[in-house]
Amino acid sequence: MKIYADNAATTKISENALAVMIENMKLYFANPSSLHTPGQLAKEQLEQAREEIAQAIGAKPREIFFTSGGSESDNQAICSAAYAGKRKGKNHIITTTVEHHAVLHTMAKLAKDGFEVTYLPVDEDGWLDPQLVREAIREETALVSVMYANNEVGTLLPVKEIGAICKEKKVPFHTDAVQAVGHVPVDVREIGCDYLALSGHKFHGPRGVGALYVRMGARIDNLIEGGAQERGKRAGTENIPAIVGMATALKEALNQLEENMEKTAALRDYLEAGLSKISHSKINGSGAERVPGTLNICFEAIEGESLLLLLDAKGIAASSGSACTSGSLDPSHVLLALGLPHEVAHGSLRLSVSEENTYEQMDYIIEQVKEVVSYLRSISPVWESLKKGEKEYIFK
Ligand SMILES: *Cc1c(COP(=O)(O)O)cnc(C)c1O
Repeated sequence: MKIYADNAATTKISENALAVMIENMKLYFANPSSLHTPGQLAKEQLEQAREEIAQAIGAKPREIFFTSGGSESDNQAICSAAYAGKRKGKNHIITTTVEHHAVLHTMAKLAKDGFEVTYLPVDEDGWLDPQLVREAIREETALVSVMYANNEVGTLLPVKEIGAICKEKKVPFHTDAVQAVGHVPVDVREIGCDYLALSGHKFHGPRGVGALYVRMGARIDNLIEGGAQERGKRAGTENIPAIVGMATALKEALNQLEENMEKTAALRDYLEAGLSKISHSKINGSGAERVPGTLNICFEAIEGESLLLLLDAKGIAASSGSACTSGSLDPSHVLLALGLPHEVAHGSLRLSVSEENTYEQMDYIIEQVKEVVSYLRSISPVWESLKKGEKEYIFK
């Protein structure tokens, strides 16, 4: 059996999005900045996609800027707000310990440039108490950046409450909604954010394309200099095939949102019920509201990378955390932020399902994970000492 269960890393492109992209490349190849008719027809395609993306998140078309993906959108939002603040003497930024590296590494860069960054802690489910945001805001706070949904455990953070606090305190608020858009209802006015990042390939659109919502009146500066595309804020000839593919995928996801959410959550819960029977394991984030498809579990005395490779050999594509950290032997910063000790954070498995998965596949995953976990434990010296009572179990 071949099972793709790594939808938080990327999703399979939808057939409709693919068809629209191919058609777009054939029919609308002209440069949308050109004044001739073919150029203007291409521009119409671009602007229609902008309207669709805007509508999908409750924004106005003028508030949507197309980018190369979630990472670029995060970078642009954070840097724009940070430097706008700095010009007014504000050099403090608030974020969380569980953000994606697109946010955390941008923060690290800003810290080197003189900004003071506060990393708010989360609880054991990865949830952030909005009151912590209120308490952390100061006179010199230039930006609050809190993700909508975590990519490793799926936890939904209380962005509406945080948005309201930021509005009251008049501090710009950015949210990385890459894992939320297309998976749960997202409305920028309800959140009350100034910036919101989304990415096409996380909701069955193509890779290498995303969007940044910038509230009318919020500051936006370009990362890339050049032509006057995207109203002068993002130079470079627009990747229209990818943009229309993203818009098509998002419309499709939203047309079936409730149905998909229900189906995906039921599959995830079924998988979770089966896997949680494995002894000395812990489901991460299960005490919080989560996006429907994501499941993160830690196993005592297991090395995540070995688990992944053995599952891959059985046809199961999963992840041991975020794709960006796999390959390194450091445990996930997110799992550590949830308070898990290093040794168990290493033994993590992320399975992220979509509406395209089946119960038969869930049964197969449960069976294979059980088998691989017992095999790895049978050859583990750590497991041996736990069994002998020389070491204490972390998960009872
Ligand atoms: C995938 C992801 C990103 C990065 O998006 P890209 O389009 O791959 O650059 C940023 N934030 C979160 C939460 C993500 O899951």
